[in-house]
Amino acid sequence: MASSGGSAAVPDAAAAAAPESWAPTACPYCGEPGTGRFCSACGKPMALQSTSRAELREVLGVKLPPVAAILYTAWLAVSSPACLSRRWVEGDRRGLVSPVAMISSVTALTALIGFILSRWTGNRPAGVDDTETAKGVLGVAGFLVGLFPDAFAAAAADPAAFAQHFKSTGQLLVLFWPVLFIIPGFVMLAPWTRVPRHRALVMAAFETVFVMLLAGLHGALQAVESVRGLGLSTLFWLALWAHSAAHVRFGAETSWRYALSRPPLAALIFLPVVYIWVTGVAALALTSWSLTG
Ligand SMILES: [Zn+2]
Repeated sequence: MASSGGSAAVPDAAAAAAPESWAPTACPYCGEPGTGRFCSACGKPMALQSTSRAELREVLGVKLPPVAAILYTAWLAVSSPACLSRRWVEGDRRGLVSPVAMISSVTALTALIGFILSRWTGNRPAGVDDTETAKGVLGVAGFLVGLFPDAFAAAAADPAAFAQHFKSTGQLLVLFWPVLFIIPGFVMLAPWTRVPRHRALVMAAFETVFVMLLAGLHGALQAVESVRGLGLSTLFWLALWAHSAAHVRFGAETSWRYALSRPPLAALIFLPVVYIWVTGVAALALTSWSLTG
């Protein structure tokens, strides 16, 4: 009885077999013979897709981490960052998403929420007016006048247009914004060998996830008229200070004194980093302006 049941199972399997993928005997990328899901020589996936649906799913889905892992990592980044960075450094990454993927997810999500909120409420976040922005940028990047005399003069003549162009140039580089926070976080920890460099980088990157969440929340609240001017910025800076200090205290097992001194130091290091960023974006904006204008 059991044997006849077994033989009946074979045609079923054959009928179900419209395989979505197949495995070649040699790596499609480097030619190294082998089996398994990934090539043991170059690490690329061995399986080749054989239906358009599977191909599309691979194109769209291969880089996306599971939503549950993103949410779990975000929760840890907020509630126990020291545990999160320690687990990452020590290699216990089950259910976790890398800091880089987290930063991208948070940036995309908060940008989307901010966009929807500002459309919905009709309030644009209260910003500095364009003329002031242009004056400020051209003021700090004054040394660029020798490099781009014509564009500089044009920008000074039409500051509002230049401010718009400067902002959209900065927006193009949105993926690099987190580096502005990671660098100060890393520099405040690493040169004093109390925190090993690798750990310092992981901590700075996960703390940046929290910064991006906080900045996103702050930006979203700016679109809500009734909470403007409640001293939110001060509150957010204090929250960031306490959060980063606790991260350093428990993530690197330092004293509270050391831990509390790090965030203000990072804020100081943030200033020259932003200065370099602003002048870099200004140079790029002036270059592209002189090319088009
Ligand atoms: Zn290979």
